[in-house]
Formats: sequence, C-alpha cells, structure tokens
Amino acid sequence: MNTLNTYKPNKHFKLITLEMIDKIAALEIPENNKFNFCKISLAQAIVNPLKVSYIKQDKIKSLMEHAKVILPLSPTAEQRNKYFNACSLEKFANHIFNKEGITSDQLKEFNDIVKKTKERANATLIKDFKRFTALEIPEIYHINNGTDSKTYEGYHIGQHNDINASCMQGKPKKWFEIYTDIEESQAVEMATLIQRNEIVARALVWFDVPADEVGKNVIDSKKIYIDRIYTKTQEHRAETQTEIYFQILKQYKVQTETTEEISTPSGAIEKLVLPNCYNACNIIEKVKARLNTTKEIKLHSYCNIDIETNSDSYDYYPYLDSLQYFNTYDQRLTADEEHGSDVLKLETTNGQANAVMCSCDQCSADMEEDDSIYIETEDMRVCDDCAIYCDDRDEYILTDDAVYNNNTNQYLYRPDLDL
Ligand SMILES: [Zn+2]
Repeated sequence: MNTLNTYKPNKHFKLITLEMIDKIAALEIPENNKFNFCKISLAQAIVNPLKVSYIKQDKIKSLMEHAKVILPLSPTAEQRNKYFNACSLEKFANHIFNKEGITSDQLKEFNDIVKKTKERANATLIKDFKRFTALEIPEIYHINNGTDSKTYEGYHIGQHNDINASCMQGKPKKWFEIYTDIEESQAVEMATLIQRNEIVARALVWFDVPADEVGKNVIDSKKIYIDRIYTKTQEHRAETQTEIYFQILKQYKVQTETTEEISTPSGAIEKLVLPNCYNACNIIEKVKARLNTTKEIKLHSYCNIDIETNSDSYDYYPYLDSLQYFNTYDQRLTADEEHGSDVLKLETTNGQANAVMCSCDQCSADMEEDDSIYIETEDMRVCDDCAIYCDDRDEYILTDDAVYNNNTNQYLYRPDLDL
C-alpha cells in the first residue's frame, strides 16, 4: 500500500491518464475551460493507486500569491498530500470535458475510452501471490463482506469484488471440511493474488503429490490441476487469470518443459504439456503469447486426477466446480460422471450433497439409484411404476409383462402363460 513514506509516482499511470485525455479530445468533445490542470505534476494518488492526483493551475497561482507556497514541478509526497486533489479516472475525465450537448456516439466513445483506461490502470497494479493451505481454505471461503468475519489474517474481499458472487463465498466453515481431509498422498491448496490486502483472484489447486512436497519439489505438469479462477472484476479478467496461472506455475515449481508427441492428420507434432485449468478457454491464447514459444501447447479444461479423501461422509458439502462426483465407496472425488448408490453429486449451494439420479430403463423417469428395481427377466433397472411383484416367480417383473389373475389376486408373467 502506498503511504507518504513509500509513495513513488508510477510513470505508466501518468502516461495512460494523459493518453485518455488526448483520445477524448480527439473526439472533439469540448474542454471545460475552468479545469486547467497542471499536466506536469499529474500523478497517481497516494491514498489509492487507481486515482489521479492533480492540482489546478489557478490553485498553484493562488498558493503562490496568498500563502507564499511555491510548488516545484515534481512535488514531494508531503506537498502532494497537502495541496493536491485526488479523484477517479472517470471523475477526472468528467472534470476536464464538457459533455453537455455531445452526441450519443461521442458519449459512447467517451465511456469506452474511460473504461479501457481503467482496465489499463488496474493492470499496472502489483499483485502479490499468496498460497493458503488446505486448513485455511474454509477460512477464505468464510470471509464475508458485511459481517463480523470480514477478514482472515488481515486479508479481505471488498464489497465490489466479484469473488463475492461465487456461490460458496461467505458460507460456514463447516461446509468446507472435505478440503481439509484429503488423503496424505495428495493435496489441495488455495492460490490467490493479493492487492493491498484484498484478495483479487483465487483458485483451488489440486495436487497428485503429498502435501509436504507441494511447493518444495518440482512437480510434473500432469499432477496438478488449477480449478476455476475467480477474479475481482470482469474487466481484464483473462489477463488476471493468466497472471495467477503463471504465478502458480512458478510458485509450485511446475515442470513446463515436458513435451508430448501428438499425432495429427498432417503428421506428429510436439506439444508442450501445461497443467490443465478450468478456465483453459479464457487463457490459452494469452498463455501462448506469454510463453513466447514456437511449440504448440497442450492445455485443457478438464481435470484428469481423482482425489482421495480420508472419510466416506461429511456432515456438509461445498459446491465443487470440477470434482463434482464423490464416490463414498472408495472415498474419491472425481470429475468423471459416475453413477451408483455410493455416488454423491456435489452441485448444490445449500451445504448438502445430492444422490446421483438415474433414469428408468423402461419409462425414462428420473429416480434415485437406491429406489430403482432390478428386473432380472429383462436385465433392466426400472422405477416403481414400471415394476410389479410376481409371486409365482418370486421376483419383480415389468408391469407391461404382468397379467392379473382374478382368481388368485396375483400377477403372472405373460410369457409363462400358455395362451
Ligand atoms: Zn419407469
């Protein structure tokens, strides 16, 4: 965070602010004559790196005349703090230009320029990478703006942060117990990007290596999966996602030089194998550009590692983005669709898991696997409505194959009758 002691104006921020002004001026939107700001001393504000610190030329004069204060072209942080104003890029543009009477096309372009400038300014901010261990994952999810659990160890998620829109953010810690109970040969962590103590991006990262090796030993790119990346804003989202992706590669010592031969119609090609990531589609072009390689890259969105847990049941379950199926028989989370009475689907936002549904082989109605009835004569699994008990055979048969015997009040299996 910038303070008086550590403040250093960012040249790039000044440049993009002045470029914004030039671009708007090129639209022939009239300038507001009263707003004669000093271009030379313009800089990033001390209190907020996304705000413009400026002083009007009238004020410089007035300070000189009435207070005998002479401001240098490059003021000190103290002078800036005392005499300069600070406002957002948008407000700054609104001060400088007179939007009264402009056309709707001009207004649209004006807004577009301001929006893009904000995105560029955002991208200049330094983001720090921080890992949180499995035991801390429930704490991070529990951070909830507007409640008494606003922070975890000083880290917060601001009110206008889109991470709040994640369906699991702010939920009780007990819902996330499963993350803290991964079998010891595997691991999960939460990777984040932090800006001035605010979490601005986060992703669960799954490892097919023991927790005590994570971040210490070099890891094979196939033994790590980067789950959905949530970001603070939708603006420049792919850039932020790409940034955290590369930070994860670096901080977890991921082997990124592994290649694989892939056969294609035009012959075999060598591809660099990178860790799969839920947001692969959003980031793949940017990842390619940043790697600056002539090689093709292999980067998919699916998760091809299963994760074992220590227990076969939990009181509560989180919604999982990728590893949605929990097979309670072998205590395994998997991304592959599984069926059976042992399988739970972790896809609700109320802390509960759903039994996996299957459909009746006869009428296609949805039913819980547990409630299905096996029909041996047809080798089918059917619903209640489609099955009937046949005393004669001592087994269930299809309703369609049943013939009612008025004398015995029993159902008979049609093929058994000599009709
Ligand atoms: Zn049925």
